[in-house]
Formats: sequence, C-alpha cells, structure tokens
Amino acid sequence: MVARIVLLGPPGAGKGTHAKFLNKKYGIAHVSTGDILRANIAEGTPLGQKAKAYVESGQLVPDDLIIEMVRARLSEKDTQNGYILDGFPRTVEQAKALETMLEKIKSKINLVINFAADDGIVVERLCGRRVCPNCNANYHIKNIPPKKAGICDDCSSSLIQRKDDHEATILDRLKVYHERTKPLIEFYQSRGLVRTVNGNATIDVLQAELAKHIDSV
Ligand code: ADP
Ligand code: ZN
Repeated sequence: MVARIVLLGPPGAGKGTHAKFLNKKYGIAHVSTGDILRANIAEGTPLGQKAKAYVESGQLVPDDLIIEMVRARLSEKDTQNGYILDGFPRTVEQAKALETMLEKIKSKINLVINFAADDGIVVERLCGRRVCPNCNANYHIKNIPPKKAGICDDCSSSLIQRKDDHEATILDRLKVYHERTKPLIEFYQSRGLVRTVNGNATIDVLQAELAKHIDSV
C-alpha cells in the first residue's frame, strides 16, 4: 500500500532525522514544513517574509499560510507514491484541513507515528543540534558529530545553529507543542492510526521499530 504518514512529537524528538532515513530507505517523499519555510525565508519569498518572525521566535506560522503551502507541496508528483509529513499538521485546524483536502481526492493518511520524548532530552538534543544550511543534514555536537567538527559530511558546507535552537526559544517551542500540537495524538487515536514509539531511544533502535510499522501499512 502507498504509505501516507504523519510524524508527531515534540521538537527534537527525532522526526526530521528519521524522516530522512525513511526517505532514503523507502523513497517516500519527505515533506518538512520547517524545511520549506526556512528555504522560503532564505530566498526572501513573500511567504518567507510573512513567516520569518514566527519561525525565528518559535511561534506557529498562521494556519492559512501553512495549509496553502502543504496543498501546493502535496500536488507535486513525487508525493504520488506516498509521503512523510514532518512538522505538519501542528494544530487541530491543520489536521482537519488536511483531512478535507485528502477526502476531495479520495485519499487519506494511513499511519501516524507518535514520537514520545521527555522534555529534558529534547532540550539537550536541540541545544546541541547543528544543521547544514545547504543540504539540511542534521548533526548533534555529542550524539551525531560530523566527521570534521563544524563541517557537513555530505556537502562540506559549514554547519550552523538554527536561531530557534537557543534555549529560551526551545522552551517556547515546547510550550507551543504541549498546548497546540499534543491534542493531535487524540485526534488521530480516534481514527485508529497512532503507533507510539520511544523518542528517547537511540537512532538504531528506533529505525528498526519504524521500519516494522511501515512494513505493516
Ligand atoms: P522543530 O520540529 O524542530 O521544532 P520545524 O523545522 O518543524 O522544527 O519547525 C520550525 C518552525 O517552523 C516552527 O517553530 C514554526 O514556527 C514553523 N512551522 C513549521 N511547521 C509548521 C506548521 N505546521 N504550522 C505552523 N508553523 C510551522
Ligand atoms: Zn550539507
């Protein structure tokens, strides 16, 4: 079956890292709303200009902008063989809009992976996170260090720390997650779609578990 997957969980739970792994292993399109927004901000597009202040301060970008952005992305051809939504939906309004959007084309989400991770672990991971501004690869100064400090293994660009990965903003993002995004677990549980995995586990352990869930779709 074509896998149409939503990844849920707090920032820093590992959604992006695992989505990239699943994209490589299964060739399923990786749709990260955060990556799309950051690319728009870097290019200074009208969407990027509207989203910049929200993204950099860890607040949610307004639903209408996000929903339109996802609608456009899901109409691209590479998503026909399935996709992994990473960072979307983030509010119940977004989840309902997604459902309506998919109903119109007789489609639906068939798996929701919920990454349960403790706030303490998440803060430690985000504080140490470094990203490649060129190819979006993710590293961690202790847990996933690049071969050469500060340099991307894949494309040799200099790694950066995201503006929203500083401690005060991380705490704001966690608060937003608990208030706005966590209710989605129940939303999707009522549709029988949720598989909860332990986001505190190591990358290897989680990869094996995720593969099992996807093979069962
Ligand atoms: P993380 O999961 O590490 O917090 P993301 O890259 O998913 O980070 O998102 C970064 C920022 O982009 C969010 O803090 C928010 O400002 C914005 N954003 C991403 N996805 C959404 C969304 N679905 N709805 C609203 N804002 C979003
Ligand atoms: Zn790179």
